[in-house]
Amino acid sequence: MLYNVAKLLQEPIGSIRHYVLDEPSGIEDPDLVLIGPIHSDRVTLMRTQRGILVTAVLTQTVRMQCVRCLADVDVPLEITLEEEYFPSIDLKTGLFIDWSHDEDVTPEVMIDEKHILDLHEVVRQELLLALPLHPLCRPDCRGICPNCGADLNTEPCRCEEKPVDPRWEALAKLKKTLSEE
Ligand SMILES: [Zn+2]
Ligand SMILES: [Zn+2]
Repeated sequence: MLYNVAKLLQEPIGSIRHYVLDEPSGIEDPDLVLIGPIHSDRVTLMRTQRGILVTAVLTQTVRMQCVRCLADVDVPLEITLEEEYFPSIDLKTGLFIDWSHDEDVTPEVMIDEKHILDLHEVVRQELLLALPLHPLCRPDCRGICPNCGADLNTEPCRCEEKPVDPRWEALAKLKKTLSEE
């Protein structure tokens, strides 16, 4: 997810590059357990007046826990990127460009001084936004019984069939006898 855009930055507005992306993303975030590579059939980089517009549809599977039974669930996420990146250096003059007056130009969309455009931070943020709030291992997950802890997908609830403590049984018998007298 690193692209050297030194050449593209020197081309006319509207110039385009396409890339296929299929690699481990290397994104590190405690809330993202990434499974397999991040993939896109087409990452498009287009020279704009001020920088480079990146457009892509990306897919990444993340591992979450089912909110009902806590089993692992691998959730395929799809995110759409449409983000403009900005050079930190003017290739003609070699001088740093002052973007401080421009609200769009935040650190995560800065192309570095070696002209490397880095998608990691924007993709990380988009993946976090794409996480489902209530992941389920399957739509009809029956969850865990809050009383006996049985996983109701794989075993019956034990609440009903719990054997009565023999001591209570004896007491119940005694009560019965007493009430009958
Ligand atoms: Zn479940
Ligand atoms: Zn139960």
